Amino acid sequence: MAEPHNPTPGLFESFAEAISTLEKLTKMETKITAALEDSRVPWKESRKLLKCMSPDQMSNTTLFQFMQNLFFEAGIGRLEISDVGRFQLTFIIKECGVCSLYHTKEKGKVCFIISDAILKFFVKDLDLPCSVEESRCSKEGFEFCEFKTDLQPLGVYKIALDDIDRALIGDILGGRFATAGFAKDYEMDEAEVTYRLKVLESYQIVDSDNNVTEIGSTYYKFAQGLRALEEDFEPPWKGLATITSSIAAKNSFAEAMCETINPEPFIKVDSSEIVNLAEEAKKSKSFAELIAKHVKSMG
Ligand SMILES: [Zn+2]
Repeated sequence: MAEPHNPTPGLFESFAEAISTLEKLTKMETKITAALEDSRVPWKESRKLLKCMSPDQMSNTTLFQFMQNLFFEAGIGRLEISDVGRFQLTFIIKECGVCSLYHTKEKGKVCFIISDAILKFFVKDLDLPCSVEESRCSKEGFEFCEFKTDLQPLGVYKIALDDIDRALIGDILGGRFATAGFAKDYEMDEAEVTYRLKVLESYQIVDSDNNVTEIGSTYYKFAQGLRALEEDFEPPWKGLATITSSIAAKNSFAEAMCETINPEPFIKVDSSEIVNLAEEAKKSKSFAELIAKHVKSMG
């Protein structure tokens, strides 16, 4: 858990209030723990989230709606996404269930339990190593509580691309890629192929002329190993009636994205975030080993 910038306020005005609040927090924590235990999400669903370019797109994914539902049911409040970066997601809660347990007038951050829940959901259920910090809290006088979630870049690369993306990279490397032919081979619209290329460009796997970059060829080298790591199982929301997703009704995520009237600008990877990837990769036997090293170095 990240260190708060402001000191924790004097939380309680009386002993009775302290007891009652702690009791409610304990109940909330028990609910969260139980919910997270049964919520492992297959990579194919996390991948849809990671390919989103805006809070609107991301809010529309079944996975986010599931997460929102899970947090709401635990009494935390209604989670929203306010900002999406390639490796950073910002969540906000306007009427925070944790803050409402504290009646103190003193200012400070109190929502550690939420940072911790987001962290556990990403690390344990999505298989996405990250760190989470509560950057703003209603108890500091803001209109909402805000949580910055920094995703570990290699963890994102591990999950973000699928078999078709890998085939696309392979075709480019083999000098046999053409949009029309690829679309035909994989029974998709050319617009979807173009969208996939844009996503690959946003990850700096191909450049703007659709040539594979050094990061791209490193990634490709480990592609088969990654495929072996991927488990296919039912997502935890199967049968959950409250999830309504426009994206779920489409044949593919890319198809849904292509229909966006005003396409969002693509988020680009900042190369400084992955600067040592190619070098480190040369020293590692597998992507799993590479990831393990980096996750360790994050502390
Ligand atoms: Zn808060």
